[in-house]
Amino acid sequence: MLIVGSGIAGLRAALEIPPELNVVVVSKDDLAQSNSAYAQGGIAGAMDPVDDTSNHAADTMAAGKGLCDEKIVEMVVREAPERIQELIEWGANFDTENGELALTQEGGHSHRRVVHALGDATGKEVMRALIARARGLPNAEFWERTFIIDLLTHDGRCCGAIVWNRGHGKTIIWAKQTILATGGAGQIFRETTNPSIATADGHAVAFRAGAVVRDMEFMQFHPTVLYIAGSSRHLISEAVRGEGAYLRDCTGYRFMGDYSPQFELAPRDEVSHAIAVQMDRTRHPCVYLDLSHVDSKLVRERFPHIGKVCADFGLDITHDLIPVRPGAHYMIGGAVVDPEGRTTVPGLWAAGEVTSSGLHGANRLASNSLLEGLVFGRSSGKGAAQLAAGQPDSFAALPLESDWPRGARDDDELNLLDLRNSLGAEMWRDVGIRRERAGLESAERQVEFWTRYVAAREFADPSGWELQNMLLVSRLMIAGALTRQESRGTHFRRDFPQSDPTQAEHIEIAAV
Ligand SMILES: Cc1cc2nc3c(=O)[nH]c(=O)nc-3n(C[C@H](O)[C@H](O)[C@H](O)COP(=O)(O)OP(=O)(O)OC[C@H]3O[C@@H](n4cnc5c(N)ncnc54)[C@H](O)[C@@H]3O)c2cc1C
Repeated sequence: MLIVGSGIAGLRAALEIPPELNVVVVSKDDLAQSNSAYAQGGIAGAMDPVDDTSNHAADTMAAGKGLCDEKIVEMVVREAPERIQELIEWGANFDTENGELALTQEGGHSHRRVVHALGDATGKEVMRALIARARGLPNAEFWERTFIIDLLTHDGRCCGAIVWNRGHGKTIIWAKQTILATGGAGQIFRETTNPSIATADGHAVAFRAGAVVRDMEFMQFHPTVLYIAGSSRHLISEAVRGEGAYLRDCTGYRFMGDYSPQFELAPRDEVSHAIAVQMDRTRHPCVYLDLSHVDSKLVRERFPHIGKVCADFGLDITHDLIPVRPGAHYMIGGAVVDPEGRTTVPGLWAAGEVTSSGLHGANRLASNSLLEGLVFGRSSGKGAAQLAAGQPDSFAALPLESDWPRGARDDDELNLLDLRNSLGAEMWRDVGIRRERAGLESAERQVEFWTRYVAAREFADPSGWELQNMLLVSRLMIAGALTRQESRGTHFRRDFPQSDPTQAEHIEIAAV
């Protein structure tokens, strides 16, 4: 079996593979480099007796603005306490209070139900525990710094992948069943919270292999990303507002009451949109988080990581204002999967941020994505392993054919960094928080122009393949955004500012 990706979804899947099957886990960087490892706030689950999974489901559905699949939502939130408990048994140390799990609240949640670790570095702790457990698997090999170039298909079914690493060059991995868990796409946008691995590779390879993708117009913009020149774009967790932080504009005005009765705890799409409008109104490049009225001991204990990052820039988060603005954060759209994680291509499964499972609808509720990775990682691992166990070992290598034009131009003088920066700027400007037809059409023309000469080139290492993938996925995002002529969740059209009930459906795209 082949698993591509070593974040929460990929490793959770690996832990389901029984010893009689061999599994290779491929990861384009070190095992520890993933969006999962950067997660701050926590994992949502109704763990408190005064809470209930039906509340968690209702909050998820409300945030999703009419596009959640109710059955998937119910399935995922029902499993949440068990998946969290399992992590604890595997050694993840979540924060506690008086011997009980400490639960925090985040935007869009009606109850305190988010478990967290190391204060505000949940992903680091959860991934430490998962990596340790996965490394102990007798039947797993981990190929780090190995990049998937494309999936291999035969008669419409997936039979492995072609991967590349510096030691072996291009290598074919034939697999009875393949699970894609490649995470997100934030690097497509100039402003993002995502680490450098998030270049939409999985979305692109799935689409090229014939998988149906959907909801590609829904990129979630996190409202509060640290905005200090010279700092990388650190996320300032939702939990900061959960613990009572105010959002103020550059005049000191606490503006969220003008936009939502939930003030700072409105769902992410509403807060990001409000910040974008307020930045325009005040003609200022950011707004500010204010924690000065919150108990400073609590602030220090809850947010040690954020406190340290800000302190490196001379800011004390217990009394200084923290400059923030929105950034691309979570890719809601992706490969369509069924409740177990099957894509539309036989032999290919997917889990986590690379998918569109129906959990998030048009806007993801905070702390639901690590949960989704756990639930679908487990189910896809289980389902794929069952199928692989029934496939013959004589599964033979197939002759290779490619429709790639012979004599494609080699990468020559292309300045890939320049192209990547230009793509990020274009996508941020015209396909960012607030969109309209003219801007989207201009982005479409620009991206198609770049694609004409980048797609036709043969590259020798991941920087070129990543750019090709990002261009392809940008085109899919723009196509979705042009088609959806309404505003819904994370997709806001200035020319269609209202939701239109007749458009409350997914937009699917398939390669022809
Ligand atoms: C700063 C930050 C904070 C967040 N906080 C939270 C939070 O508190 N709670 C929450 O629920 N969610 C949070 N999220 C979102 C959440 O972390 C992600 O959605 C989730 O971790 C995705 O998990 P995944 O396993 O699908 O992908 P990832 O964890 O991103 O893993 C992807 C894996 O695929 C590999 N990969 C990618 N491309 C290739 C390729 N071409 N070849 C080989 N391997 C490849 C990568 O190397 C990596 O191992 C946060 C995200 C960020 C960026």
